[in-house]
Amino acid sequence: MTRVIERLSSLFVRTLREDPAEAEVASHKLLVRAGYIRRQAPGVFAWLPLGLKVRRRVEQIIREEMTRAGAQEMLFPALLPADFYAATGRLDDYGDGMFRLDDRKGAPMVLAPTHEEAFTLTVKDLYSSYKDLPLTIYQIQDKYRDEARPRAGVLRGREFTMKDAYSFDWNDEGLDASYQAQRDAYERIFKRLGLDYVIVAADSGAMGGSKSEEFLHPTEVGEDTFVHTADGSYAANVEAYTATPAPARDFAADGPVEVFPTPGARTIAAICEQAGCTPDQTLKNVVLALVDHEGKREVVIVALEGDREVDLKRLEVAFQPREVETATEDDLKKHPQLVPGFIGPWRDGAQFLGKESTTGIPYYLDARIGDGSTWITGANEPDAHVRSLVFGRDFVADGRVEAAEVRAGDPAPNGAGPIIAERGTEIGHVFQLGRKYAEALGLQVLDPNGKRVTVTMGSYGIGVTRNLALVAEQNHDDRGLIWPEEVAPFDVLVVATGKGEEPFAVAERLAAEADAQGLEVLLDDRPKVSPGVKFGDAELIGVPWIIIAGKNSAEGLVELWNRRSNERTEVSVDDAMATLT
Ligand code: ATP
Ligand code: MG
Ligand code: MG
Ligand code: MG
Repeated sequence: MTRVIERLSSLFVRTLREDPAEAEVASHKLLVRAGYIRRQAPGVFAWLPLGLKVRRRVEQIIREEMTRAGAQEMLFPALLPADFYAATGRLDDYGDGMFRLDDRKGAPMVLAPTHEEAFTLTVKDLYSSYKDLPLTIYQIQDKYRDEARPRAGVLRGREFTMKDAYSFDWNDEGLDASYQAQRDAYERIFKRLGLDYVIVAADSGAMGGSKSEEFLHPTEVGEDTFVHTADGSYAANVEAYTATPAPARDFAADGPVEVFPTPGARTIAAICEQAGCTPDQTLKNVVLALVDHEGKREVVIVALEGDREVDLKRLEVAFQPREVETATEDDLKKHPQLVPGFIGPWRDGAQFLGKESTTGIPYYLDARIGDGSTWITGANEPDAHVRSLVFGRDFVADGRVEAAEVRAGDPAPNGAGPIIAERGTEIGHVFQLGRKYAEALGLQVLDPNGKRVTVTMGSYGIGVTRNLALVAEQNHDDRGLIWPEEVAPFDVLVVATGKGEEPFAVAERLAAEADAQGLEVLLDDRPKVSPGVKFGDAELIGVPWIIIAGKNSAEGLVELWNRRSNERTEVSVDDAMATLT
């Protein structure tokens, strides 16, 4: 391969002195100012030569670790038939988040936001036996999501690059092993990128499936909140966190409205999977709140909606029973899961609950019927649940009920504590999908007994471009970027400054030497550019090592400048390379 030394005199880059107007976070400002990315539309960016080099290096780390984990690379198109997503219901679930288009014949197409369906269908196309499995395949590819709020440059883009891997196994043990292999690979990737991370329990949400963990990079610019304990025994995204009610505090008569998800207040589908029931059985799926209403305390019950994930902060339907009494000591002894204030006589001969939802699956509230009294328990006892609630009679829509705040100091659900809340950004997500997609798309194989079994899957995503931006966010100072060696666009920048031919000749020689040693080298050979401008650009661009061939070149001396420590040392031209490598 012919190697050509890259030169700043011809490199397609213009550094900027001013921050772009719309940029709020440092990485966004610096990636634009240093000539790595250019905005094309909100959340859509072009990658200039410098940016593309860094991207390729991030991808390289990911590829190496995927290979180590036994995953094979392939590539799907971003443009896919909408049918793929209709088959799993995600065409609706994604809503406005999906870019949709029609081809010239009117066939509906989408720009893929993620690729579970395409991978599943292709494996179905080609494989039919347990002997073909396990299989983990992945791609590094652009994804399209019409994010409501694209922000912070490539941190949240509408086009962004993801590494998405998918595992296929014919039994549960296989899935556990495939999942663990990806999880381990993720740890290695983030360590190599030098990104701090916390692994938190995540909500399985609209994806369905059982086990899901997110890798969050703790940072103030993050859009996720997670809670964890100092001893590390508990960590969860708030979306998957069940607040622990503390009666004395939460039921103060003049306190604010509080809502508590009961343990496992999730989607009906997810709960069914846990409880091994079907959606027409009664289910635990309720949120309780205490409000002050016309001088009286009332329990408000909020039903989660049908078969979909509902954001607890945005529940709109509330249920108002007539009276509430505080539980007695005896009640609490009989029902250890009760919380004072949550129970009370309700209606005689209660026959209620269950509102027709838009999806056709009724709402289920969690209540226990005693002799003439109804106990709201939150217990997962199918027989104790009731249905057939009448909207209007039993429910009123009384506006928004806010979910309980995460309160620092609460005990964690595992008993450890107190919890600490922090901001973070999701850098990776590992997910046991289980059989949901394989079932919807009919992916089965023959097991060792010749029986057809549905394949069980995992899905594993890393935001390549988001990770790159976070590396920049974590590695900069007020003068520019400071790339870690593993992802820097170049290993060394050789700068020629000063009058006469000598510095330029020495710089050429050093660049050639660096190149011969296998280093990636950029040569600042721009004529008639002041040393101040050259040094300013060197700092902005952030290559780890800078060699300055200046006025002492004639005496055979150059300066070695470490971008991170800012240390400069004078060395002889002959020693320069040896000192570097
Ligand atoms: P977020 O919660 O930040 O919206 P997500 O849960 O929607 O992310 P996944 O579907 O789990 O994202 O995708 C896998 C990975 O892709 C994420 O962990 C994240 O690193 C990255 N990612 C997701 N959305 C974006 C985006 N809009 N821009 C850049 N990277 C993204
Ligand atoms: Mg998202
Ligand atoms: Mg997320
Ligand atoms: Mg995610």
